[in-house]
Amino acid sequence: MDSGNTVGFRQGIGISSRLQELYEQIDDIYRKVAIQSAFSCEGCDGAKCCTVDLIVHTFAEMLYMRRGLDALNQSTRLEINQRSKQIVELKRLDSLGEYRNTVCAANLNGKCLIYNYRPMICRLAGIAHFIEKPDGTRVFGPGCDRFEHIVNDNISFEKIDRTPFYRKLAELEIETINSQGKRTSSRTIAEILAT
Ligand code: SF4
Repeated sequence: MDSGNTVGFRQGIGISSRLQELYEQIDDIYRKVAIQSAFSCEGCDGAKCCTVDLIVHTFAEMLYMRRGLDALNQSTRLEINQRSKQIVELKRLDSLGEYRNTVCAANLNGKCLIYNYRPMICRLAGIAHFIEKPDGTRVFGPGCDRFEHIVNDNISFEKIDRTPFYRKLAELEIETINSQGKRTSSRTIAEILAT
């Protein structure tokens, strides 16, 4: 994989609109399961979800996040960009204590400033889920602490099946790589927004 530092490429409209559709499907399922399980992020500042360790693996999502950054007013954009650079520097200096305790550069006072452009990993955070492997076995993952605390055995809800979302994103990623003529390495959100 190319480890170039820039994600400064234009994303084709077709790919971005299909990525947006995928995000809408994810959001719909998320809302449905949240209602079933009586789970809500209301009042949570996102500090535990919006960590600096979140990794984005696809070029398609990186380009979309950059669009979200570009859509902000200049001063907000610069602020996020500066905070991202500081976070990248903290990581580079290996001051792990400070680095790990830092919240995502796009989270300001508990709000995601690129909310409509946030990647899949952010959209799926919080609710228990599973992924179906090619051999049919399922790998389950828990929800966040709040979810696990709120939801008890008396509540019946569906765990979110992430498999079709991952498949669709993989298809969009192949198209993105073909249209851009290059790949990128996986990056943290700060690494994406710092460039
Ligand atoms: S992009 Fe938004 S939702 Fe995702 S971690 Fe950052 S602030 Fe949180």
